[in-house]
Amino acid sequence: MINIPVTFNSDEKGYFDRECPNENCLFTFKIHMDDWKEKVSDEEVHCPMCGHIDTSDKWWTQQQLDSMHKVAANCAKSYIQGELDKSFKQLERSTRGNKFMKITYKPGYRTTFINNPLGQSEEWEQDIQCPNCQTRYSVIGSAYFCPCCGFNVIEDVFDESLDNIGKMISSLTEMEDLLTQTHGKDKAVSMCRAMLEGSLGDVISAYQKFAEVKYKTFSPKTARVNDFQIVEKGNALFFEATGKGYNTWLTDDEIDTMNMMFQRRHVLEHNGGIVDSRYLEKSNDQTYTVGQRIVIHRKDAEKLIEIIKKLGHGIKGLQSDEC
Ligand SMILES: [Zn+2]
Ligand SMILES: [Zn+2]
Repeated sequence: MINIPVTFNSDEKGYFDRECPNENCLFTFKIHMDDWKEKVSDEEVHCPMCGHIDTSDKWWTQQQLDSMHKVAANCAKSYIQGELDKSFKQLERSTRGNKFMKITYKPGYRTTFINNPLGQSEEWEQDIQCPNCQTRYSVIGSAYFCPCCGFNVIEDVFDESLDNIGKMISSLTEMEDLLTQTHGKDKAVSMCRAMLEGSLGDVISAYQKFAEVKYKTFSPKTARVNDFQIVEKGNALFFEATGKGYNTWLTDDEIDTMNMMFQRRHVLEHNGGIVDSRYLEKSNDQTYTVGQRIVIHRKDAEKLIEIIKKLGHGIKGLQSDEC
């Protein structure tokens, strides 16, 4: 057995790159080197994105694996070369006094092996400290689980996102005034409209991430990426997994409104806001005809936030069987 000494260095902030071994995820994140060594257990490391749990030796990034393979190949080459040198030298010695045969060996080019510390990728922006175990880690975008203790921060992330979107909507009047001073009335109005329309997408994607993570605690099945963007599908998944559908927490009117707003957002995002027959069919919206453009009012977005908060609150109250 050959032992290959490989040194991994942390980046300037002291973080160490890791990658989720779950084939469907492969999420890359960073964890503080000291915490990786001292806090994280050998048996259980949690993926911040998908929650996959695995032993601590499985979390190499592709880049680290490539570097290690190179290091190992070089090391093996120089090892073999060394062994070859040794056996030829022996042969040379053993044939020294031989009248009939003489072997001489000149060692050829030797692969030298230098063990460079393997590099880490650039430092990332988002630093997080687990409120439960104080482990420091870093991700791009949002994360849901602490890599060390698995503490789930999704509920905080979800509530915070909805609050932020609500605040943004309620300050639109103020924003419009400010933007009017710098960009003129027309620009200001269309910028604020774009922000309001965008807020629907923000609410829906906050819900989608929240629902995905919560769903996973009830079902071994993996939901597809967009399942929770479709009210009917999300409802069916929760019903199948827990015996409780959206109507446990929402009235029929609220579910209809939720569905309509989800469909409106779809049209805004994928059809420039222009109503088509598919929208009319899926949303059951009687107020538009084909070819018109969707208009979003503040109260629409506020209503959606209210419904999603109510639904989220209900889903949070569901108890997983494992508990
Ligand atoms: Zn993962
Ligand atoms: Zn933690």
